[in-house]
Amino acid sequence: MLDRILGHPKPFSKSRQAVGRPTAGPERPGELPTETESMDFSWTEEQERLYGEAVDFARRELNHELPRRDAEGELNLEGWRKAADYGVLGWCMPEAYGGGGLDVVTAIRLLEGIGYGCKDNALTLGLNGQIWSVQAPLLHFGSEAQKKKYLPRLCSGELMAAHGMTEPESGSDAFSLRTTAEKVDGGYRLNGHKTYVGLAPVAGLSLVFANTRPEVGQWGISAFLVEKAFDGYEAPPPRPKMGLRTNPLGDIVLKDCFVPEENRLGPEGIGVSIFNYSMDWERGFIFASHVGSMARQLDECVEFSRRRKQFGQSIGEFQSVSNRIADMRLRLETSRLLLYKLAWMKENDQPAMLEAAMTKLHVGEAFAQNSLDAMRIHGAKGYLAEFEVERDVRDALGGVIYSGTSDIQRNIIAKITGG
Ligand SMILES: Cc1cc2nc3c(=O)[nH]c(=O)nc-3n(C[C@H](O)[C@H](O)[C@H](O)COP(=O)(O)OP(=O)(O)OC[C@H]3O[C@@H](n4cnc5c(N)ncnc54)[C@H](O)[C@@H]3O)c2cc1C
Repeated sequence: MLDRILGHPKPFSKSRQAVGRPTAGPERPGELPTETESMDFSWTEEQERLYGEAVDFARRELNHELPRRDAEGELNLEGWRKAADYGVLGWCMPEAYGGGGLDVVTAIRLLEGIGYGCKDNALTLGLNGQIWSVQAPLLHFGSEAQKKKYLPRLCSGELMAAHGMTEPESGSDAFSLRTTAEKVDGGYRLNGHKTYVGLAPVAGLSLVFANTRPEVGQWGISAFLVEKAFDGYEAPPPRPKMGLRTNPLGDIVLKDCFVPEENRLGPEGIGVSIFNYSMDWERGFIFASHVGSMARQLDECVEFSRRRKQFGQSIGEFQSVSNRIADMRLRLETSRLLLYKLAWMKENDQPAMLEAAMTKLHVGEAFAQNSLDAMRIHGAKGYLAEFEVERDVRDALGGVIYSGTSDIQRNIIAKITGG
């Protein structure tokens, strides 16, 4: 078991990626401390080995027929199951619920490895979406019965889950949602319409936010675990979109949908807290695998700019090309720093709303910009579908919108900063 190899028996346990503090003061005033526990940015040998194995696994198993799937908008269901078998969905879930019990920092590094090896950004988005926006809040707010019922099936890949918040009239202003949950004998009757929901057309379970007391506004929002099989639940076919095509995105229509009381997640009226909790994880880590995509993109650009010759020299020798590579590298490394720091903070139970928003904003924009740079470096090959460079541009642009647009992240950062 991975957790035994790594020595991390608990999920979300204290990480070994410790930020240190001086252990001995300066010997003479004005001198630097002689002995310090320095901030440790290194990975252990085990983490490196597991990262390498995750890259190899993803490269070997998750790219099958990707250009065709992308063109036809087909989810790689077999890849999803293989990823689940490999442990991806359960990496940082407790063993008791079918997970692997890894710490957050290690799990994030391995998800990055999956993104390096897997060129299907939509598949890795789906995996990350389920982990961070459904499994994480279910683990935190769920009753023992709910966790036992759903988490093992989510980790094993038997059940796919969606996060249904957005509605036609409530996007960025998420808490103005109109879906209602009326209390009835033994449960609730849900009515409303969720839209742009990743995996909705294929999900067997959805975390749906609805208002149990519309008269008190957002304080009446509650969360529900809604099964596809419940009467009154409908998920129409996927809606075509620019990129991320292998991740079917669509609507959830609830018409007098009966949800038993035991499927309410947490007490009534704490939907805002559940949503904010899940956003802390989702915003920060939804791009964990896309950071791996950025690293792969960069390696491919370096290789191409050495190989491609124009005017009798490698194009990488032109400063406009090498500058692009330098900028791509910088965006990759700053993305990693934000991501790893956030992982360390979450591992150590620190509040991280600011860091999650900064990570979402920076990595989302960095992936989009790096994808455009990769396209420019490849010239026409970057624009034609057959060379598989342009797909990243289409995929990456979605990242400046989902999980809260870049504008909304800026609002959060400014508000916390005092702006
Ligand atoms: C690929 C993809 C996957 C998605 N997956 C899911 C999912 O799984 N579940 C789910 O519930 N939703 C999902 N969404 C929906 C997504 O969360 C919303 O699209 C997003 O929150 C923005 O809402 P909106 O599209 O209604 O835009 P609007 O909120 O109408 O915003 C339109 C524009 O106005 C700007 N704007 C709005 N308010 C402000 C403000 N206060 N300050 C500054 N600018 C503002 C926005 O930044 C944007 O540029 C997904 C969307 C995409 C594209």
